[in-house]
Amino acid sequence: MLSADFCHLADDINMVNQSEADWFHLDIMDGVFVPNISYGLPVVKAIRSIADKALDVHLMITEPQRYVSNFKNAGADILTVHWEAVTHLHRVVWQIKGEDMLAGVALNPHTPVSFLEDVIEDLDLVLIMSVNPGFGGQKFIENAAKKVSDLRELIIKRNSNAMIEVDGGVDGNTAPILIKAGADILVSGNYIFKSPSPTERIAELKRL
Ligand code: ZN
Repeated sequence: MLSADFCHLADDINMVNQSEADWFHLDIMDGVFVPNISYGLPVVKAIRSIADKALDVHLMITEPQRYVSNFKNAGADILTVHWEAVTHLHRVVWQIKGEDMLAGVALNPHTPVSFLEDVIEDLDLVLIMSVNPGFGGQKFIENAAKKVSDLRELIIKRNSNAMIEVDGGVDGNTAPILIKAGADILVSGNYIFKSPSPTERIAELKRL
């Protein structure tokens, strides 16, 4: 939703409601963990009030454990924290699950998949960043596809149920590569919202 038109947010939410998209992806940035500031709890709550699909909330904030119940109360269904932003990852993951949300962990482009080896069984979702987090509309980092296949291997090896999500630079060229590598969920912003026919673009991605 970072690529949506904030002056006409309801229109863009309704577009997603009527599309084949499965989830709403909300990027929360605090100006500390990432250079940019996006939007916070009141906006999540507003989106929840008219969104009729799950809210997938991606926290790009330091010490995300402070806000787990706030995001639950604002309407999050899936809550993802960054590996790089948390000291006691296992505890935060179970804090999120304890609030009846699916728990995700995001990896920045420089963070190897192997760092999840001892927590992968506890995760519902792993988010591979295919750009440096902080801004919409960035260029795709090719190494993300290799990370997706490494992650798929780790998930199979450890018998984990974690879904693989990729965020950043997803478009008609990169999406097939990511799906082939083993991705389950693709986050797409600018490619959808800057298109003259967003629902058609979503349908195209879903057909891959
Ligand atoms: Zn995101």
